[in-house]
Amino acid sequence: MSTHSPTIEVVSGDITREQTDAIVNAANESLLGGGGVDGAIHRAAGPRLARAGAELAPCDPGDAKATPAFDLTPPIKHIIHTVGPIWEGGNHAEPETLASCYRRCLEVADELRAETLAFPAISTGVYGFPADRAAHIAVTTLRTTPTNVRHIRLIAFDQRTYRLLADELARQQL
Ligand code: ADP
Repeated sequence: MSTHSPTIEVVSGDITREQTDAIVNAANESLLGGGGVDGAIHRAAGPRLARAGAELAPCDPGDAKATPAFDLTPPIKHIIHTVGPIWEGGNHAEPETLASCYRRCLEVADELRAETLAFPAISTGVYGFPADRAAHIAVTTLRTTPTNVRHIRLIAFDQRTYRLLADELARQQL
């Protein structure tokens, strides 16, 4: 196990344009594709991705499963699909399930020997998880989970998410 924590960086952009070894998809349990970041990743990776997803499905909330990256541009080699919690008010273990997503993605990245990894803001779109709380959970979990991943990029698709993640990271790195 690595003795170093990964470096964490917040960046604006589209996760399908990343140059990491693996990218994380905020998928749904079917692993067949959907809207938001899931739709963008399936479009960029091509139709083989849904076929690979179907063979691995279902994926439980809080869990993660990997496929090849198919038509995505190298160096991306793997897509790690995780299923975030659907926000139902916060008393249905949504925070714990979201933390589990980040932990499981790091475990799967370690199994794949991926050293660089990009995450979207899991659950904060259609699934409705409050983005400020999600940013706190994302940064806390990634900072405290042992891993061999060396570098993590948190990809913000909008300005508000960028600000929340950047502020949270700055607070925790004081
Ligand atoms: P969920 O169903 O887990 O809520 P969504 O895809 O609806 O997933 O949203 C998760 C986050 O991903 C949101 O912040 C959304 O703006 C963002 N997102 C959407 N498209 C992309 C993309 N191409 N790259 C990175 N993030 C994206």
